[in-house]
Parts: sequence; structure tokens; C-alpha cells
Amino acid sequence: MSTSQKFHTASEKIAFDTKHRNTIKFNISKYDVAVSKGMARYKNVEIAKENAAAIKADVMNNWDNYLLEFEEKISARGVEVLWAKDEHEATEYIKKILVENDAKLLVKSKSMTTEEIELNQTAESIGCESVETDLGEFIVQVAGEKPYHIVTPAMHKSKGDIAKLFNEKFNTPIDSTPEEMTEYVRQVLRKKYTQAEIGVTGANFLIADIGGVSVTENEGNALMSTAFPKVHIVIAGIEKIIPKMSQLGLFYPLLAAHGTGQQITAYNTIFTGPRKENEVDGPEKMYVILLDNGRTNVYADSEACSALTCIRCGACLNACPVYKTIGGYTYDTTYSGPIGSILTPFLRGFKDFSHLSFASSLCGKCVEVCPVKIPITDILLSNRRKAVEQNLRPKMEKLLMNGFKFISSERKVFDFLPGQMKTFGTFPLNFMVWGPKRSMPTFAKKSFSEQYIQNKNNKHI
Ligand code: SF4
Repeated sequence: MSTSQKFHTASEKIAFDTKHRNTIKFNISKYDVAVSKGMARYKNVEIAKENAAAIKADVMNNWDNYLLEFEEKISARGVEVLWAKDEHEATEYIKKILVENDAKLLVKSKSMTTEEIELNQTAESIGCESVETDLGEFIVQVAGEKPYHIVTPAMHKSKGDIAKLFNEKFNTPIDSTPEEMTEYVRQVLRKKYTQAEIGVTGANFLIADIGGVSVTENEGNALMSTAFPKVHIVIAGIEKIIPKMSQLGLFYPLLAAHGTGQQITAYNTIFTGPRKENEVDGPEKMYVILLDNGRTNVYADSEACSALTCIRCGACLNACPVYKTIGGYTYDTTYSGPIGSILTPFLRGFKDFSHLSFASSLCGKCVEVCPVKIPITDILLSNRRKAVEQNLRPKMEKLLMNGFKFISSERKVFDFLPGQMKTFGTFPLNFMVWGPKRSMPTFAKKSFSEQYIQNKNNKHI
């Protein structure tokens, strides 16, 4: 089965799963309430969004310079910067570091970039246990799943689902409360932090002018993951660069308000290098792996490159009617929802993933909520055009579209058939593309122009 067929089959199934839908509806409704409070703190959020978009546009125009500035500044403090053109190179770097440090345990804070390169599997393939320390990530790891959402990895699970999972895996009481389960995980992780040789984080922002790595989180687990282990590895997409530290004053609240509705995320850390003399914690060695993995393909496309300005707040996922219906796993990608539907074809190939750009109603809600004003629907449309130009769409669709083009491009051709015959002619589409659960609209007996001419003659207008 092709990835597109798998996607359609999985979508059809999950769309009618009422338990899934109710869980998502409940969790997104809580998000919506929090975000509306978060937005209310802004006098004019549009100005903040425009400023953020302008800064990110400047980054796109001077991307190489800012990245090199970052490398120079952070290297000067003893950090080793490694450039990885793809997942394979990043994985090789990580393996080498793990082997050199005889690593048996790695603690990792939440990072979609590490998901992209399947870091857990890599570590485990060479005998190093990899433990997720973000609570949501810990839950999906225990369940043997991947993150469901880029910000809230366990969004698809209710507290009852998690209590049942923990009961099965850890024998905790089946009626455990969220507080009790959190306390249980806290105790488990405390030991892991102190035992791990390696701590891994992602990066929310790479700061060029100071050579710093900014990580924002709500649980303090990234701080713990970097305080005890002797090695800290940062894995960051090259698009995470911003020019100046002072710009965090704009990006921190924007990310928090759009991601979770908070005024600001609880812990905001800027890592600038390994532990210095007389410092009580922090790693002895720090690496930053700068990952391309297809990002320069996005950059090379003038219509799609603004998608690289994404700050991964997750707002477009929560706003998307398609995401809310089919959920995160159906996409079968690291990045799901509207932004994932744009990026994945560039990161993993149009051949296998261009169908995702068609999984949108183009309602525009994603554009409305995006804090950096990415024209998501325009890019989805340009991706669709590319898929057609590359002959990646089903042959039947091409045939039907050509037929539609022929019929609708000339008024006299369109009006040639009476309404009933047009309705009859579109009947097969119900089963082929429209779906049996919806009915095709019926055509009026006479076309608009015919009715207009008739009316005009009758009324003598
Ligand atoms: S595209 Fe915009 S709304 Fe979606 S995750 Fe990125 S920054 Fe947030």
C-alpha cells in the first residue's frame, strides 16, 4: 500500500472513532480557553506577529551569516559545532559521541528534531538506554508510541488512559490521579538524571549574537537533563536561528501564548557552553548538531521557504479541522497538521508525501492563528501544483480534472447539457472521490445564464 493509500485508509477509520474525537475535542477545548486568555494579555497581538515575521524574514535573507556567527561565538566557548546534512550524518555523530563516552544511559528533553532523526532507536541500537524526561513524551514512550502532537505529545490520551497504562506497566493504582502519576514519574526520572552520562536537548532558538541555545519548557526536565550528565548534545534544525538575544523578549511570550496560552513558559534557559571552573553543575563537554535534513530544499523553493520561519507553537494543528478529525498519527510523519503537510514533502519527498498538502480544507484558520504569519494555505496550494506538475496525482483525478476543465471553460459547452444530465454525470464521483457519506450537490435544471436570460426576457430588463 502506498503512503497515500495508507493515509486515506487510516483517515477514514479514525474520523469515525468517537472516543478519539471526544478526547481531542476535550483537550483542544482546554487549549482554546487558555490561548484566548493568553491573547488577551496582548494589547495588539498583530503588531507582535508582524515584528516576529519581519525578524524571521531577515533571518531567511541572511541565514548563512547568522548561522556562521552562531557557530563562531559558541565555538569560542569550547562547544563543538557539527553540521549534519541529513539524518544519517546526525546519527553517525551521535553514535560516535555515545561510544567515546561509553554511554549506557541518555536522558532527553522534548525535541521534535530528535524524533526526526529517531534518536531513541539510534541510542538503543548501540546499547544505550534513552529515556524521555518530558512527561508527555515519557507517557508515549512507555506506551511504545511516537508523539501525537508537536507540543502536546500525549494529547490523544485521557487521564483514564494514562492511569490504565501506568497500571499495566508500573503496577500503580488504576485510579491514580494526574498528581500521583506525575509524582511517580518524577521519582523514576530523578534517578535517571543522576545516572545518565549524556543529556540531550533540542533548541527553540539558536541565538546568533551571543552564540546561545535557548530551550523553553514547563517541567524543568531540560535543566535536569543538562545539569548532571557530563555531556550535553543539542540537536537543532538550522532554521531555529534568530539574530539577537534581545529578540527573545518578543519570541518567548509569542511562543508561550500560542503554544499553551501561558504568559511565558515556566523555564527559559540559554545554554552557552560547558561548565566553567567553580560552577556547580552543567556538562564537561557540549556539542551542537546543526541539522539540515531537507530544510535547504524548503529554502530553495521561493514559494515555500517562509515555512522555515515556523516556531513550532502547534497553534495551526489545534486550529485545523482536518487535524482535529484525523489526529496526529494518521499523517505518519514527525511534523503533522498544516505545517507538517507543507514541510514533509520537502523533508521526505514529494513522491511519498505530497498527498498531505491535499489534506486541508483551505479554510485559512491556520494562517489566522500563526504567530509568524506563514501563508500556510498559499504554500499548500503551491505544493499541490507541484504534485500535479510532477505527475504524482492519481491518473483518474487527472482525467476527471481534464474533463471538468473542458466542460467548465466554455459557457456553451457547460450549458450544452441540461441540469439533470449534469447531476447524473457527477453521480459516480460520489463513490470515487466525494465519499458515500456525503451527497453531491444537484445541478439546477437550467444554468444561471439561461435563467438570467429567461428572467431578463420575461421582465424586459
Ligand atoms: S506554522 Fe505557525 S502556527 Fe503552525 S506551528 Fe509553525 S508557528 Fe505555529
